[in-house]
Formats: sequence, structure tokens, C-alpha cells
Amino acid sequence: MSEKFDVIVVGAGPAGTSCAYECAKAGLKVLQIERGEYPGSKNVMGGVLYRKQMEEIIPEFWKEAPIERPVIEQRLMMLDKESAVTVGYKGLEFAREPYNAFTILRAKFDQWFASKAVEQGVMLITETVATEVIVEDGRVKGVRTDRPDGDVYADVVVLADGVNSLLGKQLGFHKELRPDEVALAVMEVINLPAERIEERFNLESNQGCTYEIFGDSTNGILGTGFIYTNKDSINIGVGTMLSGMIREKLRPHDLLDRLKKHPLIRPLIKDGEPQEYLAHLIPEGGYNSIPKLVGNGVLVAGDAAQFVNGLNREGSNMAMTSGRLAAETIVLAKQAGDFSENMLSSYQNKVMESFVGQDLKKFKDIHLFEKNPTYFKDYLPALNRAASEYFTVDGVPKKEKQKKMMKLMMQDKGKLQVFGDLYKAWKVMK
Ligand SMILES: Cc1cc2nc3c(=O)[nH]c(=O)nc-3n(C[C@H](O)[C@H](O)[C@H](O)COP(=O)(O)OP(=O)(O)OC[C@H]3O[C@@H](n4cnc5c(N)ncnc54)[C@H](O)[C@@H]3O)c2cc1C
Repeated sequence: MSEKFDVIVVGAGPAGTSCAYECAKAGLKVLQIERGEYPGSKNVMGGVLYRKQMEEIIPEFWKEAPIERPVIEQRLMMLDKESAVTVGYKGLEFAREPYNAFTILRAKFDQWFASKAVEQGVMLITETVATEVIVEDGRVKGVRTDRPDGDVYADVVVLADGVNSLLGKQLGFHKELRPDEVALAVMEVINLPAERIEERFNLESNQGCTYEIFGDSTNGILGTGFIYTNKDSINIGVGTMLSGMIREKLRPHDLLDRLKKHPLIRPLIKDGEPQEYLAHLIPEGGYNSIPKLVGNGVLVAGDAAQFVNGLNREGSNMAMTSGRLAAETIVLAKQAGDFSENMLSSYQNKVMESFVGQDLKKFKDIHLFEKNPTYFKDYLPALNRAASEYFTVDGVPKKEKQKKMMKLMMQDKGKLQVFGDLYKAWKVMK
């Protein structure tokens, strides 16, 4: 432990392992520290893994990695008490190489990914907590760990320690997370035989699907419920903004219970055997909550940097891309022999120019839906009632039906308010 390394990476999630892998591949001496018993043992994810960003690190990884099912269908359900307006896309091009996305179980996947980094030469130590960043003469020099002789030193330390990064807080890079910057997610893994999953979700073997469920699943709070199909289990969960839960005086497991009992969801998980119950925070502050990313001898990647696009359920891919870009920056710094903030700051530009920065910037005002609960509480049920009216054949002429549907959508809000709300939503999403 008294050796000096080129790079110390704290955390063995997707961000940390991507960075460690790329640094070691470039010939740097890398120490990766993980507090869990093994990589993935503490990690929670829905979990959809996107092919593109992973493949930028390990080409054709799916031939070897522990994936569950390629995702060929994605559905968005706008759920009311006993109905849902559903949109989605199913495409068999996603069932073939090079695929688009996969369902995974993090406990298996993270372990495999970390083993590939170790093959590249990374020294991984588990069951070790980085308790403190060592700062000398205004620059980060290493980390203190909870091992007896636990100070380790490096030219650069990468903080990939996940949401609520304690090390980032120690450096003053970010403050305590506010309830409107973080979502609390709970999920259950429910065992179900593969054939039953395939029947219920209209899939063949080696095909998977995802449901994102808005509206009643979160009791109108900004967030989603979700169902993802694994090989022989289903992940079902709910993630909502902490601020909304406080406002509505709700407990996360109540929301999950409610979703599991919903008449349209219950048949999908019927007779399943609960295997695991998990809870985790998701950084959802977005663009306006991104902390300081670079200092002298230090970089921040993944959830620790708030790189999550909650709207599109993307986090692991942003973690991987930021980890890879951190590694690229470190390799250049090593060549220049300069680990100053100035030298490392190109990392910030790279991230902001990539899809990570651009997407977070695009959806920077997404919290409109949290500040104004009417979107989920009023408009989604109204949409369901209007759809019910549309599909009911009752001899009412279509012209009259359209008028009725319009009235249902307007509720008693008045045109001005409805169009105003829709215009604001369009501005957030455009
Ligand atoms: C319920 C849920 C569903 C999600 N679904 C999806 C999805 O479907 N698709 C998607 O792309 N993203 C999803 N996400 C988001 C995704 O999981 C994260 O964005 C991603 O895991 C971030 O990776 P990371 O490496 O930055 O952090 P993490 O995966 O959190 O890894 C951080 C690691 O650091 C370790 N660590 C922390 N502190 C220390 C310390 N002091 N010392 C040593 N080790 C430490 C932790 O044990 C952990 O292993 C979901 C998240 C949740 C909670």
C-alpha cells in the first residue's frame, strides 16, 4: 500500500472501471479501490446497459459479458388508476448484432467488467473504503483508506465514488445534495421462469423489453416506475424525486407496493418469487447541479459528477463515457508530466462536448415537472379519459366525440392555462 501509482480510481462501478481499464491499457500503473465485497455488490440499477458506450471500451463485449437479454422493445405507459395510454417501439433489428441495449444484473456485470480491467493490469482492492483525499500544497496527492497502513499516493486521483460522493464533498466540489437534486429508487428482483416471461411480454428467448411507467406509479411525483425483463427474473421498481416524496409524505416502498398491486401490472408479475429488494439514490439534479469536475491532481466521473439523464434512463453509459474521457485526459497529462487543474481541465471540455454534456444541457429545465405536479397529477389522467372516450363506440358522432375529448383534456382549467402549461412543457423538451 505504500507504493506510488500513476492513477488511483475510487469506486468500481461503470465510471471507475472504464477509467481504470483505459488507463491500464495505455500502460499506466493503476490502483482501483472498492468498498464492496466485490465490484457490483453494492450497486443498484434498473438495469439497461447501452451497447455503444460500453463497446467504445470493449468491442463486442456481449459475446463474453454476463448480459441478460437484448432489449428489443421499449414501452412508455401513462398510467391511471385502471387504464394506461401506451406508446412504444419494438424492432427486430435490436435482436441482432450489434444490438442497441441489454438488460443486466449489476452484481454480475460489474464483477465481470472489473475482471477485464484487472486483465489489463489494474490492481483492484475490495472491501476497502477511501476515507479521505490527501491534499498537500494545494493538490491532491492520494487517498487515505480504512486499512491499517492505508495511505496511497498517485499523480492523479479519480473520484468515481457514486452519488453523494463524500470525497468530492471533502474537497468542496459539491455541497450536501438537496432533496430536489436526488431521486430515491427502490426495486425488487422477482424470479419468474423464462417461458412465462416470454409469454407475458410477447418475447422469444434472447429477447427482452422495458416498460417505463409514468403517472399513477409515482402518485404524480416526477419520476417513473419500471419493469425490465431478465433471463428468468423481472426487475420492478419506482424512482421518484426525494422532494416529491417529502411533499406527498410517501415512503418509497409504499410506491413500489402500489405499483405491484396495480391491476394492469399485477398480472405481469403474478406467481413470481421475490429474490432481492434494493434501494439506491440517483443523482437527478441535472446540468445545473454538476459539481466542480477538475482540480489539481483530481477528476470526478459518473454519478459523483451528477451525470444522469433521468428522462431517458441513462446513467451507466454517461458514467462509462466520462470514465473513458477522464482516462484520455490522464494519459495526455502523463505524457506532458503535468497534473495541474489547468492541464486536466480539458476533461471538462470533452465531457461537455460529448452527448453527456449536451443531453444534460438540453434537459436542464426538466424540474418544471416536479415544481408543477399538475402534469402527472391532472394531465395524465385526463389523457386516459380522453383515450377511453375515443375508443368507446357508442353511436356518438365523431365530431361530438372530439369536442368531448377536448373538454376532458381541458378539465376545468380553461384554454389559457392548458395551452400555457403545454407550451412550457414543449420548451423543456424541445
Ligand atoms: C434503481 C436504479 C435504476 C437505474 N437504472 C438505470 C438503467 O436502467 N440504465 C442506466 O444506464 N442507468 C441506470 N441507473 C443509473 C446508474 O445505475 C448509475 O448512473 C451508474 O451506476 C453510475 O455509475 P458510477 O460508476 O458513477 O457509480 P456507482 O455505480 O454507484 O459506483 C460507485 C462505486 O464506488 C464505490 N464507492 C463509493 N464510495 C467509496 C469509497 N469511499 N471507497 C471505496 N469505494 C467507494 C461503491 O461501492 C460503488 O461500487 C439506475 C440507478 C438506480 C439507482
